[in-house]
Amino acid sequence: MQTPGTLHIVATPIGNLGDLSPRALDTLRTVAAICAEDTRHTRQLLSHFGLDRPLLALHQHNEDAQAAQLVARLLAGDSLALVSDAGTPLVSDPGFRLVSAARAAGVRVSPVPGACAAIAALSVAGLPSDRFVFEGFLPARSAARRERLSRLAGETRTLMFYESAHRIEETLADMAAVFGGARRAVVARELTKLFETVLDGPLSALHGRVSTEADQRKGEFVVIVEGAGDDVDARIAEGQRLYAKLSEYLKPSQAAKLAAELSGAPRKALYGGE
Ligand code: SAM
Repeated sequence: MQTPGTLHIVATPIGNLGDLSPRALDTLRTVAAICAEDTRHTRQLLSHFGLDRPLLALHQHNEDAQAAQLVARLLAGDSLALVSDAGTPLVSDPGFRLVSAARAAGVRVSPVPGACAAIAALSVAGLPSDRFVFEGFLPARSAARRERLSRLAGETRTLMFYESAHRIEETLADMAAVFGGARRAVVARELTKLFETVLDGPLSALHGRVSTEADQRKGEFVVIVEGAGDDVDARIAEGQRLYAKLSEYLKPSQAAKLAAELSGAPRKALYGGE
Protein backbone atom coordinates (compact mmCIF):
# COMPACT_ATOMS: atom_id res chain seq x y z
CA MET A 1 0.00 0.00 0.00
CA GLN A 2 1.18 3.51 -0.82
CA THR A 3 2.46 5.49 2.22
CA PRO A 4 0.24 8.56 2.61
CA GLY A 5 1.78 12.01 2.24
CA THR A 6 1.75 14.66 4.97
CA LEU A 7 -0.46 17.71 5.15
CA HIS A 8 1.78 20.58 6.34
CA ILE A 9 0.01 23.57 7.89
CA VAL A 10 2.40 26.42 7.14
CA ALA A 11 2.28 29.85 8.76
CA THR A 12 3.25 32.77 6.49
CA PRO A 13 4.17 36.38 7.42
CA ILE A 14 1.55 38.91 8.61
CA GLY A 15 3.46 41.77 6.97
CA ASN A 16 7.22 41.43 7.19
CA LEU A 17 8.42 38.78 4.72
CA GLY A 18 11.48 38.17 6.89
CA ASP A 19 9.14 36.29 9.21
CA LEU A 20 8.80 33.31 6.84
CA SER A 21 10.86 30.62 8.59
CA PRO A 22 13.57 28.57 6.86
CA ARG A 23 11.53 25.43 7.61
CA ALA A 24 8.42 26.99 6.02
CA LEU A 25 10.49 27.74 2.91
CA ASP A 26 11.86 24.18 2.78
CA THR A 27 8.36 22.75 3.15
CA LEU A 28 6.87 24.99 0.46
CA ARG A 29 9.74 24.09 -1.85
CA THR A 30 9.28 20.33 -1.51
CA VAL A 31 5.51 19.63 -1.37
CA ALA A 32 3.64 18.38 -4.45
CA ALA A 33 1.22 21.33 -4.29
CA ILE A 34 0.21 24.22 -2.03
CA CYS A 35 -3.41 24.83 -1.06
CA ALA A 36 -3.89 28.58 -0.77
CA GLU A 37 -6.76 30.84 0.23
CA ASP A 38 -5.99 33.25 -2.61
CA THR A 39 -3.69 31.76 -5.23
CA ARG A 40 -2.67 35.15 -6.71
CA HIS A 41 -1.62 36.40 -3.29
CA THR A 42 0.38 33.24 -2.53
CA ARG A 43 1.93 33.26 -6.02
CA GLN A 44 3.43 36.66 -5.16
CA LEU A 45 4.83 35.35 -1.89
CA LEU A 46 6.33 32.30 -3.63
CA SER A 47 7.88 34.33 -6.44
CA HIS A 48 9.47 36.69 -3.88
CA PHE A 49 11.32 33.61 -2.57
CA GLY A 50 12.00 32.19 -6.04
CA LEU A 51 9.61 29.27 -5.53
CA ASP A 52 7.28 27.85 -8.14
CA ARG A 53 4.95 25.09 -6.92
CA PRO A 54 1.47 24.22 -8.22
CA LEU A 55 -1.23 26.14 -6.33
CA LEU A 56 -4.74 24.92 -5.53
CA ALA A 57 -7.47 27.30 -4.34
CA LEU A 58 -8.93 26.38 -0.96
CA HIS A 59 -11.25 28.97 0.51
CA GLN A 60 -14.42 29.07 2.57
CA HIS A 61 -16.65 28.57 -0.50
CA ASN A 62 -15.01 25.40 -1.85
CA GLU A 63 -13.38 23.81 1.18
CA ASP A 64 -16.09 21.19 1.75
CA ALA A 65 -16.01 20.13 -1.89
CA GLN A 66 -12.20 20.16 -2.17
CA ALA A 67 -11.38 18.40 1.10
CA ALA A 68 -12.31 14.90 -0.14
CA GLN A 69 -10.20 15.24 -3.32
CA LEU A 70 -7.23 16.60 -1.39
CA VAL A 71 -7.43 13.78 1.14
CA ALA A 72 -7.51 11.25 -1.73
CA ARG A 73 -4.37 12.85 -3.11
CA LEU A 74 -2.67 12.72 0.31
CA LEU A 75 -3.64 9.05 0.68
CA ALA A 76 -2.16 8.41 -2.75
CA GLY A 77 1.21 9.62 -1.43
CA ASP A 78 1.45 13.33 -2.29
CA SER A 79 2.47 15.72 0.49
CA LEU A 80 0.63 19.05 0.45
CA ALA A 81 0.97 22.38 2.25
CA LEU A 82 -1.86 24.61 3.38
CA VAL A 83 -1.27 28.37 3.69
CA SER A 84 -3.62 31.31 4.18
CA ASP A 85 -3.18 34.88 2.98
CA ALA A 86 -1.30 35.82 6.15
CA GLY A 87 -0.37 34.25 9.45
CA THR A 88 -1.42 30.86 10.71
CA PRO A 89 -4.01 28.92 8.69
CA LEU A 90 -7.26 28.05 10.51
CA VAL A 91 -6.95 31.07 12.85
CA SER A 92 -9.93 33.07 11.51
CA ASP A 93 -9.00 31.47 8.19
CA PRO A 94 -10.04 28.39 6.19
CA GLY A 95 -8.62 24.94 6.78
CA PHE A 96 -10.37 23.24 9.64
CA ARG A 97 -12.55 21.04 7.40
CA LEU A 98 -9.52 19.87 5.44
CA VAL A 99 -7.52 19.17 8.61
CA SER A 100 -10.46 17.34 10.13
CA ALA A 101 -10.96 15.21 6.99
CA ALA A 102 -7.23 14.46 6.75
CA ARG A 103 -7.04 13.39 10.38
CA ALA A 104 -10.16 11.25 10.03
CA ALA A 105 -8.50 9.48 7.07
CA GLY A 106 -5.37 8.80 9.14
CA VAL A 107 -3.20 11.29 7.23
CA ARG A 108 -0.39 12.92 9.21
CA VAL A 109 -1.03 16.65 9.73
CA SER A 110 2.05 18.57 10.80
CA PRO A 111 2.39 22.27 11.75
CA VAL A 112 5.09 24.62 10.54
CA PRO A 113 4.44 27.38 13.09
CA GLY A 114 5.12 31.05 12.58
CA ALA A 115 3.37 34.42 12.64
CA CYS A 116 -0.10 34.84 14.11
CA ALA A 117 -1.44 38.37 14.55
CA ALA A 118 -3.31 37.60 17.79
CA ILE A 119 -0.29 36.04 19.50
CA ALA A 120 2.04 38.77 18.18
CA ALA A 121 -0.31 41.41 19.65
CA LEU A 122 -0.60 39.58 22.96
CA SER A 123 3.17 39.37 23.20
CA VAL A 124 3.51 43.17 23.17
CA ALA A 125 0.28 44.16 24.94
CA GLY A 126 1.49 44.05 28.53
CA LEU A 127 -1.87 42.64 29.67
CA PRO A 128 -2.17 39.36 31.63
CA SER A 129 -1.29 36.58 29.20
CA ASP A 130 -1.39 33.44 31.32
CA ARG A 131 -5.06 32.85 30.39
CA PHE A 132 -6.70 34.41 27.35
CA VAL A 133 -9.67 33.99 25.04
CA PHE A 134 -9.51 34.45 21.28
CA GLU A 135 -12.82 35.77 19.95
CA GLY A 136 -11.85 36.36 16.29
CA PHE A 137 -14.03 38.87 14.44
CA LEU A 138 -17.07 40.36 16.17
CA PRO A 139 -20.37 40.50 14.24
CA ALA A 140 -20.53 43.31 11.69
CA ARG A 141 -23.87 44.72 12.85
CA SER A 142 -23.84 46.86 15.97
CA ALA A 143 -26.79 45.16 17.75
CA ALA A 144 -25.28 41.69 17.30
CA ARG A 145 -21.83 43.02 18.25
CA ARG A 146 -23.10 44.53 21.50
CA GLU A 147 -24.95 41.34 22.30
CA ARG A 148 -21.73 39.30 21.79
CA LEU A 149 -19.75 41.80 23.89
CA SER A 150 -22.31 41.73 26.68
CA ARG A 151 -21.90 37.95 26.91
CA LEU A 152 -18.18 38.58 27.43
CA ALA A 153 -18.50 41.43 29.93
CA GLY A 154 -17.90 39.20 32.96
CA GLU A 155 -15.07 37.19 31.36
CA THR A 156 -12.02 37.42 33.61
CA ARG A 157 -9.48 36.14 31.06
CA THR A 158 -7.80 38.57 28.64
CA LEU A 159 -9.89 38.95 25.46
CA MET A 160 -8.48 39.06 21.92
CA PHE A 161 -10.35 40.27 18.83
CA TYR A 162 -9.56 40.81 15.15
CA GLU A 163 -10.93 43.97 13.55
CA SER A 164 -10.85 45.74 10.21
CA ALA A 165 -10.17 49.37 9.37
CA HIS A 166 -13.76 50.23 8.58
CA ARG A 167 -15.14 48.97 11.90
CA ILE A 168 -12.39 49.69 14.44
CA GLU A 169 -13.92 52.99 15.58
CA GLU A 170 -17.44 51.67 16.20
CA THR A 171 -16.13 48.47 17.80
CA LEU A 172 -14.08 50.47 20.32
CA ALA A 173 -17.16 52.62 21.04
CA ASP A 174 -19.25 49.49 21.66
CA MET A 175 -16.53 47.96 23.84
CA ALA A 176 -16.35 51.13 25.95
CA ALA A 177 -20.16 51.14 26.29
CA VAL A 178 -20.45 47.47 27.25
CA PHE A 179 -17.24 46.82 29.24
CA GLY A 180 -17.02 50.35 30.68
CA GLY A 181 -14.71 53.09 29.38
CA ALA A 182 -12.19 52.50 32.17
CA ARG A 183 -11.36 48.90 31.14
CA ARG A 184 -7.71 48.65 29.98
CA ALA A 185 -7.07 47.62 26.39
CA VAL A 186 -4.50 47.61 23.60
CA VAL A 187 -5.01 48.37 19.91
CA ALA A 188 -2.26 46.72 17.85
CA ARG A 189 -2.20 48.00 14.27
CA GLU A 190 -0.16 46.91 11.23
CA LEU A 191 2.10 44.60 13.25
CA THR A 192 5.49 43.91 11.65
CA LYS A 193 4.76 46.52 8.93
CA LEU A 194 6.03 50.05 8.32
CA PHE A 195 3.28 51.78 10.29
CA GLU A 196 3.14 49.37 13.22
CA THR A 197 1.48 51.08 16.20
CA VAL A 198 0.58 49.65 19.59
CA LEU A 199 -1.67 51.94 21.63
CA ASP A 200 -2.67 51.17 25.20
CA GLY A 201 -4.96 52.80 27.72
CA PRO A 202 -8.56 52.78 28.93
CA LEU A 203 -11.12 51.89 26.24
CA SER A 204 -12.63 55.38 26.26
CA ALA A 205 -9.21 57.01 25.59
CA LEU A 206 -8.40 54.49 22.84
CA HIS A 207 -11.74 55.18 21.19
CA GLY A 208 -11.06 58.94 21.43
CA ARG A 209 -7.64 58.56 19.83
CA VAL A 210 -8.85 56.32 17.00
CA SER A 211 -11.86 58.51 16.23
CA THR A 212 -9.85 61.75 16.09
CA GLU A 213 -6.74 60.49 14.23
CA ALA A 214 -7.52 59.19 10.74
CA ASP A 215 -4.16 57.39 10.54
CA GLN A 216 -5.10 55.26 13.54
CA ARG A 217 -8.04 53.85 11.56
CA LYS A 218 -5.89 52.54 8.71
CA GLY A 219 -4.67 48.98 8.26
CA GLU A 220 -5.27 45.76 10.15
CA PHE A 221 -6.02 45.53 13.86
CA VAL A 222 -5.92 43.26 16.86
CA VAL A 223 -7.75 44.55 19.94
CA ILE A 224 -6.78 43.08 23.30
CA VAL A 225 -8.97 43.83 26.31
CA GLU A 226 -8.13 43.13 29.95
CA GLY A 227 -10.53 40.65 31.56
CA ALA A 228 -13.14 41.78 34.08
CA GLY A 229 -11.91 42.14 37.66
CA ASP A 230 -12.11 38.80 39.40
CA ASP A 231 -14.81 39.48 41.93
CA VAL A 232 -17.40 42.23 42.24
CA ASP A 233 -16.93 43.70 38.75
CA ALA A 234 -17.33 40.33 37.08
CA ARG A 235 -20.41 39.46 39.14
CA ILE A 236 -22.03 42.81 38.37
CA ALA A 237 -21.28 42.50 34.65
CA GLU A 238 -22.74 38.99 34.61
CA GLY A 239 -25.76 40.16 36.66
CA GLN A 240 -26.38 43.01 34.20
CA ARG A 241 -26.23 40.62 31.28
CA LEU A 242 -28.72 38.27 32.93
CA TYR A 243 -30.95 41.14 34.00
CA ALA A 244 -31.09 42.51 30.43
CA LYS A 245 -32.14 39.09 29.11
CA LEU A 246 -34.55 38.15 31.92
CA SER A 247 -36.33 41.51 31.86
CA GLU A 248 -37.50 40.69 28.34
CA TYR A 249 -39.72 38.03 29.95
CA LEU A 250 -40.19 39.05 33.61
CA LYS A 251 -41.14 42.17 35.59
CA PRO A 252 -38.01 44.25 36.32
CA SER A 253 -38.10 43.48 40.04
CA GLN A 254 -38.39 39.71 39.41
CA ALA A 255 -35.69 39.84 36.73
CA ALA A 256 -33.35 41.67 39.12
CA LYS A 257 -34.02 39.21 41.96
CA LEU A 258 -33.29 36.21 39.75
CA ALA A 259 -30.26 37.82 38.04
CA ALA A 260 -28.80 38.74 41.46
CA GLU A 261 -29.36 35.22 42.75
CA LEU A 262 -27.76 33.58 39.70
CA SER A 263 -24.79 35.93 39.41
CA GLY A 264 -24.08 36.74 43.03
CA ALA A 265 -24.21 40.47 42.22
CA PRO A 266 -25.93 42.85 44.66
CA ARG A 267 -29.54 43.38 43.51
CA LYS A 268 -29.19 47.17 43.84
CA ALA A 269 -26.38 47.16 41.28
CA LEU A 270 -28.78 45.70 38.74
CA TYR A 271 -32.02 47.51 39.40
CA GLY A 272 -32.75 50.56 41.51
CA GLY A 273 -36.48 49.89 42.24
CA GLU A 274 -37.91 47.89 45.15
N1 SAM B 1 -4.64 33.72 10.18
C1 SAM B 1 -4.27 35.08 10.51
C2 SAM B 1 -3.37 35.08 11.74
O1 SAM B 1 -2.78 34.05 12.07
O2 SAM B 1 -3.23 36.12 12.37
C3 SAM B 1 -5.49 35.96 10.68
C4 SAM B 1 -6.36 36.02 9.47
S1 SAM B 1 -7.73 37.08 9.64
C5 SAM B 1 -8.62 36.75 8.16
C6 SAM B 1 -7.06 38.67 9.28
C7 SAM B 1 -7.10 39.58 10.49
O3 SAM B 1 -5.96 39.36 11.30
C8 SAM B 1 -7.06 41.06 10.14
O4 SAM B 1 -8.35 41.57 9.81
C9 SAM B 1 -6.54 41.66 11.42
O5 SAM B 1 -7.56 41.75 12.38
C10 SAM B 1 -5.54 40.58 11.86
N2 SAM B 1 -4.22 40.88 11.32
C11 SAM B 1 -3.58 40.27 10.29
N3 SAM B 1 -2.37 40.83 10.08
C12 SAM B 1 -2.23 41.81 10.99
C13 SAM B 1 -1.21 42.76 11.28
N4 SAM B 1 -0.09 42.79 10.57
N5 SAM B 1 -1.40 43.63 12.30
C14 SAM B 1 -2.55 43.60 13.03
N6 SAM B 1 -3.55 42.73 12.79
C15 SAM B 1 -3.40 41.86 11.78
